[in-house]
Amino acid sequence: MAKAKLQKLDQQNLLRSLQETGRDEACNVIRAGQNLISFCCNDYLGLSQNPDVKNAAVNAVLEYGVGAGASRLVTGNHPLYEQLESLLANIKGTEAALVFGSGYLANLGVPPVIAGRNDLIVADELSHASMRAGIRASTADSVLFRHNDILNCRAILKQKRHKYKNCLLMTEGVFSMDGDLAPLADLCNLAEEFDSIILTDDAHGFGVLGQGRGSAAELGVSDRISLQMGTLSKSVGVYGGFICASRAVIDLLVNRGRSLIYATGLPPSVVAAAVASLKIIQTNKKLTNLPILNARRFSRRLGLPDADSPIIPIITKTSKKALESSQKLMNEGFLVTAIRPPTVPEGTARLRFTFSARHRKEEIDRLAATVLKIGLV
Ligand SMILES: *Cc1c(COP(=O)(O)O)cnc(C)c1O
Repeated sequence: MAKAKLQKLDQQNLLRSLQETGRDEACNVIRAGQNLISFCCNDYLGLSQNPDVKNAAVNAVLEYGVGAGASRLVTGNHPLYEQLESLLANIKGTEAALVFGSGYLANLGVPPVIAGRNDLIVADELSHASMRAGIRASTADSVLFRHNDILNCRAILKQKRHKYKNCLLMTEGVFSMDGDLAPLADLCNLAEEFDSIILTDDAHGFGVLGQGRGSAAELGVSDRISLQMGTLSKSVGVYGGFICASRAVIDLLVNRGRSLIYATGLPPSVVAAAVASLKIIQTNKKLTNLPILNARRFSRRLGLPDADSPIIPIITKTSKKALESSQKLMNEGFLVTAIRPPTVPEGTARLRFTFSARHRKEEIDRLAATVLKIGLV
């Protein structure tokens, strides 16, 4: 049974496998004995390798041990959580914040608490798999609107909103596979018009847009979005997920969020490292601006529209071409993983380039020249 399913995936160029990959302080990786420069890592600021962040983790291991021991509601709520959550709330400018085991767990846990029976969830069709899992875990009715299509979203709200008690609007701040930004100001207007609340997933905006504060800050709507989710695993360079909101919402999530209540807390070293990393993000604006400047250097070299985020996709349409192009780049010393369905819609397979503060100009220029040479654009 499993073998037949695998064979079918392989025939469709959709088979995936885990590749052992080592990473160093810069953006170099080693895979199957080959040294490559990675342009597909979400460690946008290189903080996963930062000496202060590493030291914070090491010291916490020596002081507190390696595991949390239980759920945060039992004995897993290490004193360092308070520091981490107040830092997050401070950076985001919200009353409170709550840290989950991962971004996936935050997105799985939050929607069912905010929207249930007699409620409606309206979400962008390209919302991340973890958001879709949260929507599915909720007993609310749900509808998807066309990607970033405000008119379509409005039509859905106009047709359906009045039949429900509460309405939750969900979108990504920066779309993970496309790198474009959600029209957050327009969505905020819709939310006000239709008495709805907004949840943004800012996994790829936090730490790199709005001076590190994320896409809502970049677009000047921080105080209009009640639920701002993010991850500690990308620009923060560590692990874990979070949601920033009002004190009341956070207290409700502590009482009802199943993926928080029934999962073990993060290891103290992870919490300590995230604190150290956030302190850097909070103060080092030069660093947080670099990934997008690097992405723009690349988009300009290729004559593409200016990048809005550190993510630039080049659509190959077929999975076969995505795999072949990825291999060609690998032959030239670059790691850019092919992204295929079901991660992206059918017919939109792509190479997804991500830019880090740690990339050197010369590496970006060489990558752009190679992309042109292999005829990708
Ligand atoms: C990576 C990602 C997540 C999941 O976050 P983790 O901390 O890796 O679990 C959620 N949403 C989006 C848009 C992501 O890209």
